[in-house]
Amino acid sequence: MTKMPVTRERELRGVAVYPDIVIGKAHLIDRSKAKILYQCFVNGEDLNREVERFKEAVHTVEDQFVSLRNKVPDKVKDQSFILDSHLMILKDGMLYDSTVKTILEEKINAEWALKKSLEEIRAVFEQIDDEYISNRISDVENVTERLLRTLSGDTGQSLSEIDQRVIIVAHDLSPADTTEMNTAKVMGFITDVGGKTSHTAIMAQALEIPAVVGLESATALVEDGDLLILDGSSGVVVINPDDRAIIHYQEKKLQLQTYKSSIARTSHLPAETPDGHRVAITANIEFLEEVTAAKDYGGEGVGLYRTEFLYLREKGFPDEEDLFEDYREVVEIMNPAPVSIRTLDLGGDKFASEIAISGENNPALGLRAIRFCLKEPEIFKIQLRAILRASLYGKIQLMFPMISGLQELLDAKQILEQVKEELNRDNIEYDTNMEVGIMVEIPSAVAMAEVLARHVDFFSIGTNDLIQYALAIDRVNEHVAYMYRPYHPAILRMIQQVVHAARNAGINVSLCGEMAGDPFSVFILMGLGIDSLSMNARAIPFIKKLIRSISIEEARVDFENVIRLSTANEVLAYISDRMKDIVPEFE
Ligand code: PEP
Ligand code: MG
Repeated sequence: MTKMPVTRERELRGVAVYPDIVIGKAHLIDRSKAKILYQCFVNGEDLNREVERFKEAVHTVEDQFVSLRNKVPDKVKDQSFILDSHLMILKDGMLYDSTVKTILEEKINAEWALKKSLEEIRAVFEQIDDEYISNRISDVENVTERLLRTLSGDTGQSLSEIDQRVIIVAHDLSPADTTEMNTAKVMGFITDVGGKTSHTAIMAQALEIPAVVGLESATALVEDGDLLILDGSSGVVVINPDDRAIIHYQEKKLQLQTYKSSIARTSHLPAETPDGHRVAITANIEFLEEVTAAKDYGGEGVGLYRTEFLYLREKGFPDEEDLFEDYREVVEIMNPAPVSIRTLDLGGDKFASEIAISGENNPALGLRAIRFCLKEPEIFKIQLRAILRASLYGKIQLMFPMISGLQELLDAKQILEQVKEELNRDNIEYDTNMEVGIMVEIPSAVAMAEVLARHVDFFSIGTNDLIQYALAIDRVNEHVAYMYRPYHPAILRMIQQVVHAARNAGINVSLCGEMAGDPFSVFILMGLGIDSLSMNARAIPFIKKLIRSISIEEARVDFENVIRLSTANEVLAYISDRMKDIVPEFE
C-alpha cells in the first residue's frame, strides 16, 4: 500500500488499552493478512497429500502455542488460558474436521478450504448479539492466520527478535504475538484493528504494555522510524509530534505516574470515608480466571459472578461436576470474603445455541434468566446443586436474576428447597445458612421491593437492566444509546425506593450495574445509603480513593440536593461541579 506522506504532526484516536504514556520510534510489523492467491483443484493422490499438509501445519502451530504457553511470564500466568483456547480452536471440529472434509469433498487446496471454514465460523459468530462472545471471532482469526502463514511457508517476523526500544505498529496482533514480545524492549504497541475486549487487549493489560488498538489507519499513516507519542490512557497517538506536544505529554506522564502510585497505595485500604462510614467494594466477574485480578485490585469479595458465560463458553451445557469445580475454586480463592453467585441469566443478549428460544421478537422481554430456569427446572437444579455443594468451601451468596414479583421468587426458592432435600437424602453437605438474595432490575420488583425484602437476605440492584426497562431503552441498541441515562431522576428515585425497602426490612443492599464503577455516581450512591458497590475490578482503586475523599455527611447533602432535580442534565451538571471539588486532578 502506498503511504500518505506525513510531514507534520498528526493525531489519531483509537481505543485505549493500558493507561501509560510512551514516546519512541515506530517499528512497523507486517501482520497484514496472509495472502491466499488462488483456489486450485486437487485430485487423486494429491488430495491426501493436501490433507497431510494441512495436518502438518496444525502440528507446527500447535507446537508453537505449547512452547509459547510454557514461556508465559509469571505475571500473565492467569491469561495463559488464551493460548489454551487457541489450542482448542486448532482442534475444534468446525475448523479442523470441516477443513479436512472440504479438501476431500470439494477437491480443493488446504488454504482455500481453511478460508471457507473461517467464513462459516464467522457467519455463526455474527448471529451472536453479545459483544464479548462475538469478539471471540478474533481468536479464531488469529489461529487461522497462523495456519495460513505456516501453509505458505511465511512465518513473519517474531516479536521476540526485536532488540531496540520501539513502539510496534501493526495491522493486528494476536495474543500469541503479545506474549512473545520482549517487554524489556517493546515500549508499547498500536494496531489498526481490535477492541477493548479482544484478547490482545486483555494480554496487554496483564503485561502492562501501553497500547492503543482500533486506530484503523495507523499502518497506512506511520512510516518505520517515525517518532510517536502513545497515550494509552486517552487512546491518542501522535505521529511526528512537535516540541510542544512532547512537553505536554511528558508532563501528563509525570502526573499519571504520581496519580497511579497514590491510587495503588490505597487500593487495599477499606473504602471508608474520613468520618468513618464504610462501603463494601466488590468485583463483577464472568470467569474463574478473573478472581485473582479482582483480589489484586482490592476487591473485598465478588459481588456478581455472571455464571452464564460458562454455559456460553463450553460446547454443550456444563455438567454438575464442571460447575461445582468452577464455583469451588472461585469461592476458595476469595475465602473468607463472600462470592455472590448469580444463577443463569441466559437469554436477552446472551444466548446459548442449546436453548431453543431463538426467533423471539423482543428477547430482552422474553424467556430469559429466572423465567427460563423455572421453565426448565432440570437445568436449573443442576446449577443449584453445584452452588450448594461449593458453599461448603467459603461464603456463597445465591442471587436470582430478573425477579419480577413475589410468585417468581417463591417458585425459585421452592426449587432451591427441593434441591436441598435431595442433597440431604444423598448425605451431601452444604452451607445451611447460605444467604439468598435477588437482583432488583425490573421496575415491577422496585414497586414490590417492600414485599420482596421480607423474603430475601439481600438485594442487588442491577442498573444495567433497570435503566433499560424503566426508560424503555434497549441497552444494546446504538440508535437510542444517547437516551440511556443512569442519572435520570426516575432511576435515582427507584434506587432510593429499593434502599428504603431494604432498610425497613434490615437487609443489605448492593448495586452491581456499570453505574457502581462510574466515578460520577459514587458519592450520590453513598449518600443514598447503598451498602456495597460491585464493579469491574479495574475500577476498584479509583472508586475506593473517591470514597476515602468525601465524608458521608457531605455525600448525604449531595444526594438530598440531587434528588430535587428534575432532569438528567441537571443531575449531571451538579455531579460534574462537585467532582471538580472532590478530585481536582480528575479534570
Ligand atoms: C445489571 O443488569 O445491572 C447487571 C449487573 O446484570 P447484567 O449486566 O449481567 O444484565
Ligand atoms: Mg441484568
